[in-house]
Amino acid sequence: MKIIDGKETARRIKAEIAEEVKKLTEAGERPPYLSAILVGHDGGSESYMANKVKACEECGFDSDLIRFDDDVTEERLLEEIKRLNEDPKVDGFIVQLPLPAHIDDQKVIEAIDYRKDVDGFHPVNVGRLSIGLPGFRSATPAGIMDLLERYGIETKGKHAVVLGRSNIVGKPIATLLMQKSNPGDCTVTVCHSSTKNIKEICREADIIVAALGRPGFVTEDMVKEGAVVIDVGTTRVPDASRKSGFRLCGDVDFEKVAPKCSYITPVPGGVGPMTICSLMKNTLMARKGDYFN
Ligand code: NAP
Repeated sequence: MKIIDGKETARRIKAEIAEEVKKLTEAGERPPYLSAILVGHDGGSESYMANKVKACEECGFDSDLIRFDDDVTEERLLEEIKRLNEDPKVDGFIVQLPLPAHIDDQKVIEAIDYRKDVDGFHPVNVGRLSIGLPGFRSATPAGIMDLLERYGIETKGKHAVVLGRSNIVGKPIATLLMQKSNPGDCTVTVCHSSTKNIKEICREADIIVAALGRPGFVTEDMVKEGAVVIDVGTTRVPDASRKSGFRLCGDVDFEKVAPKCSYITPVPGGVGPMTICSLMKNTLMARKGDYFN
C-alpha cells in the first residue's frame, strides 16, 4: 500500500509554477494576478482563502482579497464581478462558495467572464471540459488527475466508481476519468443518494473517488484488494483535544481501508493541497492566455 502524498506533490507543482513565473518576470512580463472575493466570515472559507493567498505568494503571483459582509446585496456583488471582468490587471478571480442564501450562486458563477473563471465553474468551461476541449478545469478534479498522473497510476480500462455527483467534484471527476486520455479511459459509475447498491458497486471498483461529505462512509467491506482510493471528503468533526476544536475527517475509514489499497490519499494532506495547486495552474494559464487562443 502506498500513501499518495498530496502535500509534497503540491509543493513540487508550486515550485514548478514559481519557476515559470520567474522566467516570465525575467523576460519583463508581469506576474499572474489572482483576485478572490470572500463574503462573510465563515471559519472554513476564511482558512481556505488564507491558504489560497499563501499559495499565491509561494508561486510569485500578485493577489488581492476583496471582502464583503454577509448582508452584501446580490446587485453589489455582481457589480464587483463586472469590475473584475473588465480590469486588465486581473488575470483570474474566484468567488468563495457557498454564498449567503439571499444570493444566487449560479447567477454569480455565470456573471464571471469565462476567460477569468479560474475555478472552472462557468458553464462554458464545464462544457469545454465535457467535450474534451482545453479550458479551466474545476480545481479539485484537476488535482486528482494530477495525482493519478504523477504517481503513474494505470487508469486505462479500469472501473472507476465516483461517490457523489456535485457540480464541483463528482460530475467533473467522472467526466475527466472517462475522457479518452491518460489518465482517463476509465469505465465510470457515478453513485448518489438514490443509488441502491453502493456497497456492491464499490466492491467492483478498481478506483474509488469518494466525494460525499460523509465521514467514514467507505468501509473496509466496500473496497476490493488492490483498489486505488481517492478521498475528497473534508468534514469538520468536533474534537476537544485540538486547539482548533475540530479535526478534518475524510469519507473513507482510512485505518481499516488503507491496508487493502494499492494507493490511497489521506485526509488531510491528500486531495486538499492539490485543489489549491490547480487554482494556481489555472491562474498561470489565464495569465499566459493559452486556453482560449
Ligand atoms: P455536495 O455538493 O454536498 O455533494 C455530495 C454528494 O454526495 C451528492 O451528490 C449527494 O447525493 C451524495 N451523497 C451524500 N450522502 C450520500 C449517501 N449517504 N449515499 C450516497 N450519496 C450521498 O458535496 P461536494 O461539494 O461535492 O463535496 C463533497 C465532499 O468533498 C465534502 O466533504 C467537501 O468538503 C469535500 N471537498 C473537498 C475539497 C478539497 O479540496 N479537498 C474540495 C471540494 C469538496 P445527491 O446528489 O443525491 O444529494
